[in-house]
Amino acid sequence: MIEQLRLIVTRVAEAADLGAALECAVQGVREAMGVAACAAYLVDPSDDYLVLMETDGLDRKAIGKVRLAPGEGVVGLVRERREPVALEDASVHPRFRPFPVTGEKRFGAFLGAPMIHRGKVLGVLIVFRRNRRRFGTRQEDFLVTATAQLAGVLAMTLARPDGRIQLPRGPQATYVQGVPGAPGVAIGEVVAASVFAELDAVPDRTAADTEVEVTAFREAVTAVQAELIASGERMQGLLPSEAHSLFEVYALLVGDESLATRVFERIHEGLWAPAALRDAIRELVAVFEAMEDERLRARAEDIRAVGRRLLLELQVDSRAPREFPERTVLVGDEVSLARIADVPRERLAGIICLRGSVLSHTVVIARALGVPAVMGLGDLATERLAGHSVVIDGYIGRVFIDPAPAVVAEFARLEREEEALTAELEALRDLPAETTDGTRILLYANTGLVSDIEPSLRVESAGVGLYRSEFPFMLRESFPSESEQYETYRRMLEAFAPRPVVMRTLDIGGDKPLAYFPIEETNSLLGWRGIRVALQHPEILLAQLKAMLRASAGLDNLSVLLPMVSQPSEVRAARVLLDQVLDALDEEGVSVVRPPLGVMLEVPLALFGLDALAREADFFSIGTNDLTQYLTAVDRGNPRVAHLYNHLAPAVLRAIKHAVDRAHQLDKPVSLCGELAGDPVGAVLLLGMGLDHLSASASSLPRIKWVIRSISRAHAVELLERALSLPDAGAVRSLINSALEDVGLGGLVRAGR
Ligand code: PEP
Ligand code: MG
Repeated sequence: MIEQLRLIVTRVAEAADLGAALECAVQGVREAMGVAACAAYLVDPSDDYLVLMETDGLDRKAIGKVRLAPGEGVVGLVRERREPVALEDASVHPRFRPFPVTGEKRFGAFLGAPMIHRGKVLGVLIVFRRNRRRFGTRQEDFLVTATAQLAGVLAMTLARPDGRIQLPRGPQATYVQGVPGAPGVAIGEVVAASVFAELDAVPDRTAADTEVEVTAFREAVTAVQAELIASGERMQGLLPSEAHSLFEVYALLVGDESLATRVFERIHEGLWAPAALRDAIRELVAVFEAMEDERLRARAEDIRAVGRRLLLELQVDSRAPREFPERTVLVGDEVSLARIADVPRERLAGIICLRGSVLSHTVVIARALGVPAVMGLGDLATERLAGHSVVIDGYIGRVFIDPAPAVVAEFARLEREEEALTAELEALRDLPAETTDGTRILLYANTGLVSDIEPSLRVESAGVGLYRSEFPFMLRESFPSESEQYETYRRMLEAFAPRPVVMRTLDIGGDKPLAYFPIEETNSLLGWRGIRVALQHPEILLAQLKAMLRASAGLDNLSVLLPMVSQPSEVRAARVLLDQVLDALDEEGVSVVRPPLGVMLEVPLALFGLDALAREADFFSIGTNDLTQYLTAVDRGNPRVAHLYNHLAPAVLRAIKHAVDRAHQLDKPVSLCGELAGDPVGAVLLLGMGLDHLSASASSLPRIKWVIRSISRAHAVELLERALSLPDAGAVRSLINSALEDVGLGGLVRAGR
C-alpha cells in the first residue's frame, strides 16, 4: 500500500493543474483502498465553505455544486474536528445531508480525513462503502497518511495560477504565505535554483532520455573522482594520514562498479539519474548496515557522503553560468551561497527559499546584498515556477505568483517608494550614528564576500564587526590553500584599514556545510560545528590563523573571533594555536601584532558562563542568530517550526541584556553581530540595553543609523523596559513598530515610504 501511496503522491505532484491533481488523488485513493467512492472537498477561502471538487464513484453532477457551510454535514464534522471520522453508516448520522443536486443517498460506511497544511485545513478527503462495514485502523492509517502527503502537494498546486482558476468562484489564494526573510519588495521572473543537498529530498521523475541520464551519471563520476584526487593532493601534509586517506577511499567508492550497475538499472527502469542514484545509495547503505563487522558497517556513512557528492555533481548543469533575466528571483528548496553568487548582482531582484527560516544563511546573505527574501514556503514545485512572474514582499513574507496587473502596479509603486527611501538614507552617510540625546553608537559591517567590500565601504562603517570567513570556503569546491586565504583576507583588511576588522575563524557544520568536507550527523546543530571542528582539525585552524595574521602584517587592524564556543577550555586551546602561529611567523621573520581574541556568545552555556570566559577572551560578540536558535530550541532552518523562532522573544532579550550588563560590569568590550542588530526594532531595544557597538549587513546600516538618529537613548531604555514585560515576540514587535511609526520611521518596518 505504501508503494501505491507513493505513486499517488507522485502523480498528484506531476499533474498539470488542480483539477488533474484532484482527479489523480481520488482515483488513486479509491483504487488503493478498494472502496465504492472517494471524494475531495476543498475550502473556498472566499466564503469558507467546503466545496466538492472531485469524486470517483459519486455523481459527478454534484461537483462544484455541493457547498457545505462550516460545520455542515459529516464532511464538515471532519473539518471541525481536524481528525479522521469513521462512521458505520453515514446516512443515519444527524449531520448527514444528502447531495442536494443529485439526491445521492446510497451511503454506507464513511471515513473522512482532513487535509491539513501548516496547521490549516485545506479540505477533506472522504471514502465510502455501500455496506455498513466500518473502516478499520489500517484503512484509517492509509487515509491519514494519504491526506497528510496530499495536503502538501495540494498546497503547492493551489498556490499556482492554474490551481486557482479551477475553483468554482472567489478570488481564492492570491498569494503564498511564507516567513519574512530580508526586507524589501521586488517584482521579477523566477529562476529555479533548486539543488537538492540531500538524496532523500530528490523526487521521483521520469527520464526523458535514458542515454542522457546514463551519460550524466558517468560524467558526474569522472568529475567527482578527479576533484577528490585533486583535493587529496592539495591537502597532502595538511591533514593527518587517517583523514587524508578518506579522499582515496571516496574516490574508489565513487567509481565502484556495483554502484554504477545499480544506478543504470534504475535509469533503465525509467528514473532520472538523481533518483536512480538515490535508490542505489539506499540499497548499498542497507547492505553495509546489515554487516556483522563494525568497521564495514561504518562504511555506510562513507557511501552516503559519496552519494551526496555525486548528487551535487549531477546537478552541476543547474549551477552553470547562464543568462539571467534582468530581474531574477531565485527560487529553490535551499538557495545556496554558490547559487546566489552565480547571478550578477544587478540582476538579482529577490530570493524565495522553500526551506530555511528567518535567520538561515540564505537570509544573512540576502540582507548583506540588500535583496528581499521570503523563506519557508514549504512545498512549491520550484522547477514548475521557472519563468513565471512573481512579486515578493520580504517585510511580511508574501509571494504572489503570476500576480494580477493591479498587484504588480501596487508593488511597482512600493518599489519606487523604497528607492526614494534608500536615496534619503544615502544623505545620512556622513552623519554620525548619534541618538537625539547625544549617545554615539559605533556601527560596523558584517561581511564575508569580497563583493561585500564595496557596499560596506560605501555605507561608511566603523569597520567590520563580523567577517564570516566560511563564506569563501563555501563558494569553492575544495579547501583554499593558505596563500589563497591570505589573498582574500588581505583584501578585506586592506580595504578597511585602519578601521578594525573582526575575522571569525571557520564556522562550518550545522547549517553551513562544505560539500568537500562532509559532516554527517543526525543532530548537526548540536554537533560538530565551528570551534569544535577547528580544534579537532588544528591543521585547518592553524592554516587559517596563519593566513589571517600574515595578511594583517603592517595593517594591524585584525581581531580574531571564535564561533560556537561553549567552554573556557576551547578559548585556551585556540589561544595555544594562536601563540604557535605567532611563534612560527616570528621565526619566519614576519612581524605582526598579536590580535585581540574574542568569543562569540551564541551558545546559552557561554552566555550564562560569561564570567569564566571573560578570563580567557579579550572581547565578546553576541551572535543572536544561533543564540535564539539554542534558546528557543528551534532549528533556524526548519520551516515547520520557523514560526517559533524569534529573536524578539522577551526571554531572548533578557538573555542578551544579561550578557551586555555582565560584560560591561567586567569591563570587557561587547558588541552584537546577529541579525537582531540589523532589524530596526532590534536596534531600538539594543540601544536601550546600552550596547554601543552594533554590527549588521551593510545594506541595513543606513536604516539602523536613521533609527538611532531619530530616537533618544532614554526613550529606548523606556521601550526596552516595557518590551521585557510583554508576553511574546509579536507584542514586542507591535510595541516598537508603533514607536517607530510615531517618530516617522514606519517605512523601515513595512513596504513603502
Ligand atoms: C549568529 O549566530 O548570530 C552569527 C552572527 O553567526 P552566524 O549567523 O554566521 O551563525
Ligand atoms: Mg552563529
